[in-house]
Amino acid sequence: DPKAVLRQSLLGVSRNKAVRTTITQAPVSRSVVARFVPGETTDHAVSACSQLGSDGLLGTIDFLGEDTLDLQQAQATRDAYLTLLAELAESGLTENGRFEVSVKLSAIGQFLGADGDRIALDHARVICEAAQLAGTTVTIDMEDHTTTDRTLESVRELRTDYPWVGAVLQAYLKRTEADCRDLATEGSRVRLCKGAYDEPASVAFQDKAEVDLSYVRCLKVLMEGDGYPMVASHDPRIIAIAGSLATRTLRTPDTFEYQMLYGIRPKEQRRLAATGAQMRVYVPYGDEWYGYLMRRMAERPANTAFFLRGLATR
Ligand code: FAD
Repeated sequence: DPKAVLRQSLLGVSRNKAVRTTITQAPVSRSVVARFVPGETTDHAVSACSQLGSDGLLGTIDFLGEDTLDLQQAQATRDAYLTLLAELAESGLTENGRFEVSVKLSAIGQFLGADGDRIALDHARVICEAAQLAGTTVTIDMEDHTTTDRTLESVRELRTDYPWVGAVLQAYLKRTEADCRDLATEGSRVRLCKGAYDEPASVAFQDKAEVDLSYVRCLKVLMEGDGYPMVASHDPRIIAIAGSLATRTLRTPDTFEYQMLYGIRPKEQRRLAATGAQMRVYVPYGDEWYGYLMRRMAERPANTAFFLRGLATR
């Protein structure tokens, strides 16, 4: 499958330092990055959210950054979330959890040696406390498979004090159907996505059709369960199946939501919201856009072409 080859090589090449330097220092026109990342500052993020809010959409905001090996950077990321939550609250955007935040544990210290999990958990608690004060929620993003157990364990700990903390499960992992069963409990917010990392065949389905089938099996478990499913996908077939599963399981629109990424299928986002469904947009912001953008390129050759065209036509 040529798409799978492109995906793997992009994810592989994106880890190369020279490539990273070339791309991040290239005078990429702002409009190219801006299609997926509305800006670098808190103000950019808040004004993007205001716009989404006035279009009837919900949001979850991600301060970009991942895999930090530096305690100060982890603290700075935690503080960026605190500033963001305060500004969102001030703009009235956090009411009823309309705009929440998404956090990567690797960005707030998970990899800082033997104490990493504890450091990330402490930072996450501070963010959760601020979110609670602001009247909203937090979802903990899921990263590559080597972190799944640690991340789920941290989410479990956070939920003892903040039961509304959201977890993310990735349908490409073979373990995920079982994780869905464990997490489909009363009050449990679970975002189901296909998965964005380059994972080995020992743990993950490699074939796109297999990933899609796994997604549907997992979604069925979540929709039939007692939790709050968050259907994170741009895939028209998945969206349609989610709608019929919701009908079949007698779910009302307030008992689950759709989620899509900022800049991807924006018309469809608005169409779904207009049907009365809850549609939450994932809004990444900040200057650490490289890893995020590379995963979006790997997902879709058209995104890569769009990006390269932007580079070439400067
Ligand atoms: P794909 O199989 O990539 O695409 C299926 C179809 O969707 C395409 O055939 C096309 O019809 C349509 N489509 C896709 N992209 C476009 C486009 N640019 N324009 C038009 N149509 C398009 N991954 C993680 O690993 N961890 C996370 O924590 C995580 N959080 C996420 C949060 C949200 C809200 C979302 C939406 C995704 C998240 N992801 C996360 C990424 C996810 O795992 C997938 O990599 C990504 O969503 C692409 O998968 P897809 O379901 O959209 O389907």
